[in-house]
Amino acid sequence: MMNKQEVLSILEQYGLSATKSLGQNFLCNEDVIGRILDLAEISEKTRVLEIGPGIGALSEEAVKRAGKYTAVEIDTSFQNRLDSVITEQGGRVIFQDFLAFSASSLSKEEMPDVVISNLPYYVMTPIMLKVMADFPDCGKMVYMVEEEAQERIFAKPGTKQYGPLSVLTDLFGVKKKEFVVDRSSFVPPPNTTSAVITIKRHEGQEWKADWIRFVESAFALRRKTLVNSLSSAGKYGKESIASALSEMGKKETARCEELAPADFVRLYEILTK
Ligand code: SAM
Repeated sequence: MMNKQEVLSILEQYGLSATKSLGQNFLCNEDVIGRILDLAEISEKTRVLEIGPGIGALSEEAVKRAGKYTAVEIDTSFQNRLDSVITEQGGRVIFQDFLAFSASSLSKEEMPDVVISNLPYYVMTPIMLKVMADFPDCGKMVYMVEEEAQERIFAKPGTKQYGPLSVLTDLFGVKKKEFVVDRSSFVPPPNTTSAVITIKRHEGQEWKADWIRFVESAFALRRKTLVNSLSSAGKYGKESIASALSEMGKKETARCEELAPADFVRLYEILTK
């Protein structure tokens, strides 16, 4: 596992440096790396997908523990390093922007039951949403997120931070703040403190990827009423939204932040039945 000295020497050995615009902050704290891997509960039966392996802080051990390990990394300059850490150990690295990645390029055996990522902060929300859209059967996600994002993920209805990420992660699974990670655990240190969170899929509960678009359009015009925001996406008329809200016992003037996660599902069901 990697400490700061080792990260610096790998970067030097492979002639690499951290690209800020790609959100590259490499983990250099062995305790944090170990705790993330333990939270992922990887065994020889587990199919792991890692997003953004970087120089392999998590990958080196994950590939050894997993039955199947696949990673998607945008930065091809890491190829030589990841060949030795992942490919030569039986894993696979796909060099592509995860946001442009198609789940159909994974074989059935590679479809993940665990996703791990020290998330690149500039695309954190779209990556989290894409994982829930593309891998609806994934059992657990272990993410490193920045503090500000953490607030949005755990926000409660009625608050300023409450939004699609809070609603959708809630509908997907049980989420938990595991532990806080200090800036000094990364090379280079990010601007804010980070935290490791887990999302464990609700067992036996329905999850529809279509909810993602629906909730996003409900929040698209967040200062307007839900009727205005949702209707502006063009799929549902104002009258049907208003009548669905009244069927749910809500006011026609309700705003998106007043609805609990389960209310969005109910509204979706009424509008699409
Ligand atoms: N996993 C490594 C670690 O913990 O040290 C690196 C984490 S670093 C915070 C984020 C990683 O995501 C970098 O390797 C970066 O190149 C990669 N990345 C950034 N944007 C990406 C994208 N759109 N698709 C896939 N990987 C991306």
